[in-house]
Amino acid sequence: MPRPDLRGRVAARHAELEAIGRLRRLRTIEPQAGMLRARDGRTLVAFCDNDYLGLSHHPKVVEAARRALEGGTFGGRSAHLIDGHHPRHAELEDAFADWQDRPRALLFGSGYLANLGVVQGLLARGDLCVQDKLNHACLLDGARLSGATLRRYPHADVGAAARQLDGAPDAAAMLVTDGVFSMDGDLAPLPELAALARDEHALLYVDDAHGGGVLGPQGRGSAAALGLAASDTPLQLFTLGKAFGSYGGVVVGEADLIDALLQQARSYLFTIALPPACAAAAVAALEIIRGGEGDALRVRLDAHIQQFRRGLAERGLPDSGSATAIQPLLLGADARAIAVANALEARGFLVVAIRPPTVPEGAARLRITLSAQHSASQIDALLDALAEAWRAHPEPSRVD
Ligand SMILES: *Cc1c(COP(=O)(O)O)cnc(C)c1O
Repeated sequence: MPRPDLRGRVAARHAELEAIGRLRRLRTIEPQAGMLRARDGRTLVAFCDNDYLGLSHHPKVVEAARRALEGGTFGGRSAHLIDGHHPRHAELEDAFADWQDRPRALLFGSGYLANLGVVQGLLARGDLCVQDKLNHACLLDGARLSGATLRRYPHADVGAAARQLDGAPDAAAMLVTDGVFSMDGDLAPLPELAALARDEHALLYVDDAHGGGVLGPQGRGSAAALGLAASDTPLQLFTLGKAFGSYGGVVVGEADLIDALLQQARSYLFTIALPPACAAAAVAALEIIRGGEGDALRVRLDAHIQQFRRGLAERGLPDSGSATAIQPLLLGADARAIAVANALEARGFLVVAIRPPTVPEGAARLRITLSAQHSASQIDALLDALAEAWRAHPEPSRVD
């Protein structure tokens, strides 16, 4: 048989995606003041990014990055264990460990790299990795990289997770969940999962990419918001690219586990350290998040979430039940999600339609995200535009 031709396969896949309307298109967007974005010569109000507190453009965060450049070096130059571990990196790790009241923290190049590293670094072939079906893609990729057996339980179904752990009582096991689910905005049942992990002698790992900075006292995240003790969460991830307005990923937890990652996580060992300016910006962001200004930003964000959900109810629009800054509007078919997103764009709002494979088949949606930096009038205007687009693009009637 002739060897399959990769270019031919690429062309066929492209044609297939085009035929089903799933080609993704890259568009350049220029950030402007606050939540404004310029795209194709138009100014839009963004309701789709992860800058929940507006810290990506906070003067103190930007100034910290600028100050870090005064030494005259930008790049990370080498891996942490060669000569890349910079004082700004060490300060960041100490600040995160202190904020979370945990012994140690380890900085990775991104949240994605951190998740690959945690799961691969601690698990091996023959071990068991039990994960929520709606976990972020990089957690699944980490399990693949580790060679461990991956079992995925239906979303938030603690009983199903228990059965999966029970099914392999002799395997070393990690129980892995998002703290806040990235496409749905709901919180994981962390108290129940922590109790299960304890009973089953499994290690609980919480990816709090969307809870860190935003939820709980001092913005300490989902686990703190749900009242979990430090001993319940031996390892947690906080990403620096969302509420922290920077870039990178920090794993916080027990000293021995953190050291094991430093020794064994391939995505830690074999990559260049983050530019120190990113770490300096994140340290400045953490100072804001821990302090009174962070409290004020979280109060503002919460008020926006309440306003948005009240506005949905007043306009007869469905409320997903999410109490976080991530407010999905489920639309079902891809075409409907795209039509509603386009209608919003015509009204001056940037809300990107999220389609499979990012979300399950038939669960295309708008992933509307709120920020402390929106104004009340921007949110009201979005709600009015949503109500109009929702009516203009009704769910197609079924023909079965
Ligand atoms: C965004 C995200 C990541 C990846 O973090 P990056 O820093 O963007 O690589 C990991 N987990 C979850 C749940 C996320 O939403």
